Amino acid sequence: MLRRRHVLVANGRVTAVSATPIQAPSGSLTVDGPGVLARGFVDTHIHGRSGFDVMRPGDVAPLSLELLSQGVIGFLPTVVSAPPNELAAALSAANGDPRGARVLGIHAEGPFLSPDQPGMFPPDAFRDYDRALWRDMQAAAASPIRLMTVAAERLTPTQIDELRADGVTLSLGHTNATLDQALAAFDSGVNRVTHAFNAMRGFHHRAPGVVGALLDRGEIDAELILDGLHVARAPARILAATRTTGRIVLVSDSVPPAACPPGDYPWAGRRLRVDNDSIRLPTGRLAGSALTLDAAVRRAVDWLGRSPAAALHMASEAPRASVGLDPGGLRPGAAADLVLLDPHLHPRLTIVGGAVRWRQNNEQRCANAASGAD
Ligand SMILES: [Zn+2]
Repeated sequence: MLRRRHVLVANGRVTAVSATPIQAPSGSLTVDGPGVLARGFVDTHIHGRSGFDVMRPGDVAPLSLELLSQGVIGFLPTVVSAPPNELAAALSAANGDPRGARVLGIHAEGPFLSPDQPGMFPPDAFRDYDRALWRDMQAAAASPIRLMTVAAERLTPTQIDELRADGVTLSLGHTNATLDQALAAFDSGVNRVTHAFNAMRGFHHRAPGVVGALLDRGEIDAELILDGLHVARAPARILAATRTTGRIVLVSDSVPPAACPPGDYPWAGRRLRVDNDSIRLPTGRLAGSALTLDAAVRRAVDWLGRSPAAALHMASEAPRASVGLDPGGLRPGAAADLVLLDPHLHPRLTIVGGAVRWRQNNEQRCANAASGAD
């Protein structure tokens, strides 16, 4: 059960947390009504939404405003594998809007990925590890590249060391690695897996691949796209049964046409078809999600059988910890990056740096009420 909490904020930071009302100085923000205050969400894997595209210079700022309504206070704009000049242009333009969710670094999904597991991406931009290219990427980036999705079979232990020495968290994805290759990568310091189950060798009891390695190693952080399409509920529950809440990282992996009307949209060299509940290539293959992080939290309660507090943790503390950001919880001294949610875990108010940046309006409240508690 979630406890009511009262939080005092000054100068953008939390200064007190209490189960009972705190005597607040006059003029301070007070938020009342049923609901729960939590640390705001962090989306570590997002390519875009509502037509905004991380790969298009200028789009990260409006995207940062758009994400506030999901309770997201920070994100890692996620660039895809692309020709070096396109990649550099996207990296150098990954700046948020000062009134939006924070850009907490960049997630580079590639380019050291396996052409055997391209997912929806055209594999021509995938390549072998290239130190000079990595240096160019770092030099171009407007914000640190905090996270990189890599194929285990593309990297030697020495190369893994080199990348980690540069402060980047490595995450296995778009990889055809065997169980042994995946375990060797974990032993070399890779501690995360990108969109578990997707774009990797499927689980076979004699050839368990990355999925088998992930299920066997509960200490590895696992991204999960909880939209009910990318991973069926049973394997999502099996994954959850192998690790603590702190090792399950909810992500949206949403793509630019997410939240757009049904139709065809070009993205990342492909034509994506949006229908009412999915985004696919014309072949029928899934091509990123339309998921929001707050919906993922609600599903973690409904589908994984976790408590609301645990589900909130999967979208706030777990993603922070998985990329080396402060996972210290809602406590005095933490940045006042908060979300207020109603009892059904729909965001009502998003606070970044102590300032209210988004507030649910009547129209949204009525839509939620009309659809029942999602
Ligand atoms: Zn992605």
